[in-house]
Amino acid sequence: MDAATRLITEPARQTPVLASADVVVVGSGPGGLAAAIGAARAGGSVILLERNGCFGGNITQVGVEGFAWYRHENTVDSEGVGIEFEERAKAMGAAQPEPQSDSHALDAEAFKYVADTFVAESGIQPLLHATVVAPIVRDDAIHGVIIESKSGRQAVLAERVIDATGDADIAHRCGAPTFKTPPEQMMAASVMFHLTGVDKAAFLAGVAADPQTYKDWEGGEWTIETTGKEDDMFSPFLRKPFEQAMDAGLIPRDLTTIGGTWGAISDQGDLTYLNLVHLDGVDGTDVESLTAGEIEGRRQAMLATEAIRRFTPGAENAKLRNFGMTIGIRDTRKIDARYNLTAHDVREQGRFDDSIGIFPEFIDGYGILILPTTGRYFQVPYRSMVPKGIDNLLVTGRSIGGDRDSHAAVRNMMCCTVAGQGAGVAAAISVRTNRSVADVDVHAVQIELKRQGVRVF
Ligand SMILES: Cc1cc2nc3c(=O)[nH]c(=O)nc-3n(C[C@H](O)[C@H](O)[C@H](O)COP(=O)(O)OP(=O)(O)OC[C@H]3O[C@@H](n4cnc5c(N)ncnc54)[C@H](O)[C@@H]3O)c2cc1C
Repeated sequence: MDAATRLITEPARQTPVLASADVVVVGSGPGGLAAAIGAARAGGSVILLERNGCFGGNITQVGVEGFAWYRHENTVDSEGVGIEFEERAKAMGAAQPEPQSDSHALDAEAFKYVADTFVAESGIQPLLHATVVAPIVRDDAIHGVIIESKSGRQAVLAERVIDATGDADIAHRCGAPTFKTPPEQMMAASVMFHLTGVDKAAFLAGVAADPQTYKDWEGGEWTIETTGKEDDMFSPFLRKPFEQAMDAGLIPRDLTTIGGTWGAISDQGDLTYLNLVHLDGVDGTDVESLTAGEIEGRRQAMLATEAIRRFTPGAENAKLRNFGMTIGIRDTRKIDARYNLTAHDVREQGRFDDSIGIFPEFIDGYGILILPTTGRYFQVPYRSMVPKGIDNLLVTGRSIGGDRDSHAAVRNMMCCTVAGQGAGVAAAISVRTNRSVADVDVHAVQIELKRQGVRVF
């Protein structure tokens, strides 16, 4: 019998209901956290479900700290709860200046506590260690989700569900149409890691003595498309230590993908958000592929650590502080939404009547790097979060509808917060007004978003 025909039949069962709310948000990354806050501030009762032990998604679980590294003097930035994340993190000592921009890098560890405070003060009902394993679907509409946890299998009922899993898992399991990038074309996955024991002054002196630029990203297996204005700007880029490690026989010659950026250096000697390991072909929706990626990623991170110790000024006594809790996935499914964003929208200042927020024209991915140094921005349409074929469901965060280039823009964490807050507010208003998510009064959503401090147009 081949693997595809090996099936078992599970017995039918009755599942206890744990809780219910107006809005249930699945996943607590920048998209889900913002959605839960937006819905709660709009007056909805909200449950936030997260499979891991902390809120924050890629920020806290992968270690992605570069929350607004695109921001420069003339950037017209988003306004809303994402900015609140950055400001609160600064106020709580959970952020430090980011080296290439006019922004602060979040402290991935301390942000776990920052996220807790947002959840508590918003009156959101939190549920950690709760993995959503199935949607509850009746009459082409979702009415809640089934979770598995240490308490067993339970149901959480909802008037509206927001899928903020990053992979459009809920939409997919509801049977809504999604697009998945073929694994060989997916953006690389990364095992992120952080070092400690770095001499900050010596490290920064080394960076100043040999400053790298975005143009230096080009090389090896990488090509990079810019608008030209990015080329000579400083980038906290590291490739030379790994080339030297190859020459010294520490890194195999065929491992040409180790290289990338460092994120922040603390006074205490933590060199963090080391985005140096790039694993092609890892499919974040395939458990065996994820397993192989985690193990290979850690192997490469240890090679990179040794190269940094040997060939980077100030890092001679460095040691691994921690890996991210989980491998970082950039690219899996996107929904086929009522409106799918296009390359033209994110490169040419897309404007929409149903805008729920703005994001600067920052494109990072698929070999494109465009920085928003000129004040250009695009609007995020509400319809890009409305899936086809299923009611009561919104999808937010990085899996909103759109093509490749648009994904390279909307996947950025600040944009995920814009989409998330819009989805949360729309879900709460659709419950209150008893209108479906597809027919919600977008003007009322925009008014509430403005009240919450969002720049809508
Ligand atoms: C290595 C790496 C580096 C990056 N660098 C940057 C950067 O510098 N700047 C930037 O802006 N962006 C960066 N990104 C992109 C950015 O981190 C993501 O696109 C963004 O975090 C997506 O947000 P999200 O809320 O959609 O999903 P995520 O942050 O992925 O959060 C999804 C959440 O859903 C939870 N979840 C998933 N499935 C379930 C389930 N079934 N049940 C319960 N919970 C579930 C997860 O545990 C997680 O908490 C990077 C990404 C990676 C991987």
